[in-house]
Amino acid sequence: MPLDHTTQTPAATSQTDEARRQIEICNACRYCEGYCSVFPAITRQRAFADGDITQLANLCHNCRGCYYACQYTEPHEFAINLPKALAEARADSWERFAWPGFLAGPFHRSGVAIAVALIVGLAALFWAAQALKPAGGEGFYAVMSHTIMVSIFTPAFLLPLLAIFVGLRAYWREVGGQPVSLAHLKAAFADAVKLKNLSGGAAEGCNFEKGDRFTNVRRWHHQAVMYGFLLCFASTGSATLMHYLLDMPAPYGLFSLPKLLGIPGGLLLTLGGLGMAVLKTRGEKDLGAPALWGGEMAFVLLLSFTGASGLALYAATGTAAVSVLLPLHLGAVLTFFLLAPYSKMVHGFYRLAALVRDAQQKS
Ligand code: SF4
Ligand code: SF4
Repeated sequence: MPLDHTTQTPAATSQTDEARRQIEICNACRYCEGYCSVFPAITRQRAFADGDITQLANLCHNCRGCYYACQYTEPHEFAINLPKALAEARADSWERFAWPGFLAGPFHRSGVAIAVALIVGLAALFWAAQALKPAGGEGFYAVMSHTIMVSIFTPAFLLPLLAIFVGLRAYWREVGGQPVSLAHLKAAFADAVKLKNLSGGAAEGCNFEKGDRFTNVRRWHHQAVMYGFLLCFASTGSATLMHYLLDMPAPYGLFSLPKLLGIPGGLLLTLGGLGMAVLKTRGEKDLGAPALWGGEMAFVLLLSFTGASGLALYAATGTAAVSVLLPLHLGAVLTFFLLAPYSKMVHGFYRLAALVRDAQQKS
């Protein structure tokens, strides 16, 4: 692709073509070289195949720093808006890689309505399933049988993981991924654990909600959500091990491993998710993918509601409120699992894959 696209008036034919047009201008300009890992990756190439655009789009985390630094934004004829172009190419890639594909679009466009309908519908089913409660059982198992919970959540956990794996395999093929070594994984996880790229080029944060002012607030909220989610996951995992390996079924006390992991995890997830939702209302919609705004908002609210309903359920232990809160919490968790391959949740998997591919390209 010739670099003299810089002289053309923008005429996007697709998300990939528009991102390619802007990336070629950036590769000629190179003013934003230190901003994030996208620009060094751009400067390593002269031409950009579709797979290169997909890789660059998934490396970008929409910090918007390059937009506020750019001298070629509208009304300049180049009309550069790289955060938006990459956000739209990224969303397009997630839809193309989703499996089954027809499930991807609806959540992105009508996320809040679908999430609410699923939570309410699934909670109603769980509420009805209480009629099958066992004669004995303690804690939650006095309200709903362990067998019912396991037979619903095992496939609801494994099938979305399979769908995500299928999507990642398609991503890896499109971006020309090579066999992965330990060094590539180490480099990618080191970046992901610190959310290094959200700290911006000068470690002062990003410009998501503050225009041309840098702030780390988005990074902190994102860290709260990520670590909250991982702690909740570890809490469930430890409870499963205690149940099956140590013959120690729930309920667990305040100083047990599931609670010591789950309570801080729930708090971080609730507050981090709420913080992300507030930031989304403050950021300019047109610097992301406007069509996805509703789906992204639904996702962070779903995360926050899942954490909050889990904490409320724990606080209500031993009271009649458990029969209402348990179905609600299970409905939220099941909604989260079922939507994971088609919601913003997939960005974590594709971002990690993009970091691994970036480590390969740098080595
Ligand atoms: S975003 Fe603008 S200033 Fe930055 S590299 Fe691209 S064209 Fe240059
Ligand atoms: S929006 Fe941020 S992460 Fe994306 S290309 Fe621009 S500076 Fe890099």
